[in-house]
Parts: sequence; C-alpha cells; structure tokens
Amino acid sequence: MAQGLTIALTKGRILKETLPLLAEAGIEPLEDIASSRKLIFDTSQPDVRLVVLRGSDVPTYVRLGAADVGVSGKDMLLESGGAGLYEPLDLGIARCRLMTAGLVGKPLPLGRVRVATKFVNIARQHFAERGIQADIIKLYGAMELAPLMDLADLIVDIVDTGNTLRANGMEPRELIAHVSSRLVVNKAAMKCKHESVQALVARLRAAVERRAAA
Ligand code: AMP
Repeated sequence: MAQGLTIALTKGRILKETLPLLAEAGIEPLEDIASSRKLIFDTSQPDVRLVVLRGSDVPTYVRLGAADVGVSGKDMLLESGGAGLYEPLDLGIARCRLMTAGLVGKPLPLGRVRVATKFVNIARQHFAERGIQADIIKLYGAMELAPLMDLADLIVDIVDTGNTLRANGMEPRELIAHVSSRLVVNKAAMKCKHESVQALVARLRAAVERRAAA
C-alpha cells in the first residue's frame, strides 16, 4: 500500500464529468457514489480509493496530504491561493467563467462598491488590481439575491449559460477567469508516490487528449 493513492473528488457537476474520465483511466468506484451517503469509496483498483468532499475542501485535503491527488475547479484553486500543490493537468471538464455581474442597466455607485461573493480572495484581488474600492461581503449561496435585495452592487460568481443571472434580472459584466477542473497533486506524494502518481497523470492525460481529438 506504500504506493496506494487517495483521490479527492467533489460531488455534483464535477463528479459527473470526472467519473467517465477516471473510468477511461481504469478507475471505477465499486458502488454508485451519487446515491450513497458514504464519503470514502473503494475502486476497481485495490490500491486506489476515492474521497468525496466539498469543492472548497479539495485543495486543503491535497495540500495537507490527507489526499494524494484531487480534482478541483480552477475557481477553488484561485480562491485558496493554490500554494503547496502541483497542477499537472487541465482536465477540460466543468468549464465555466468567473465573472462579476450586476443588475441589468444599473450603474455602479461612484464611491465604494459592495460586492457579494463566496470567492472573497479572488474578488478582493480583482478590485484591488483595478484600483476600485470594494467592500467584500462573504455569502455562502444564492449570490444573485444580494443585488436584488440591495445588499450588494455586484456579485462575483460562476457563470455557465448565464441563465441564472438572466432569471434574476442580472447581466455579466467583467470576466475574471476561465474555469475548468484541474488535477492537483500533493507535493510530497509527487515524490514519494512518483510511480503511481505519474501513471495516473499519464492515463488521464491520454483520456483528455483522446477527447480533444474526437
Ligand atoms: P448558469 O445558469 O448556467 O450560468 O449556471 C450558473 C450556476 O451554476 C452558478 O451559480 C454555479 O453555482 C453553477 N455552475 C455552473 N457551472 C459550474 C461549474 N463548472 N462548476 C461549479 N458550479 C457551476
């Protein structure tokens, strides 16, 4: 088990798109993750197990070595600073954009701007780089509600189709970053479990390249 690998995944959209890639790399959970309440899953490879976490916890588990490898949205990596991790592969899945958004046609106030988001570090940096004084308001969900309730002038959030924004009378404003899911690797595991990690990276890279070519 010295080379055993623990892979951290996120439930929801990223999991749905990651499992087929893992299957192509020869790793399949022994039971259905989506319908299970368990958090740790054995796989078709006896030395590989999967743990299912909140997306924002994946960088932490991998950085601290509780998981050797993880699949994390670039948004989570930008927010957590990405330190202490290798990011060897863009999986090209769960693509979306990190954007600012506001109420349709509503101009920004002349003074300080109130910004609601769960990405407080990304938002702080974005507005600081533009020399805009921003009061960042940390929220945990339903960002679109904040401008409607006059809690904030802008939000920083994930946009995919833009339907959620439109349904709430909002419009995208500035693109902050393109987001997709990345394979991340603990720095010590990259050395101590070099063979297993490199084999996994190579198999996943081949799967990603096959898709890109299809
Ligand atoms: P949409 O209405 O298609 O623009 O999707 C917006 C909402 O879906 C966002 O507020 C996110 O919560 C969620 N979402 C869309 N794509 C992703 C993704 N790739 N990763 C995480 N959340 C996403």
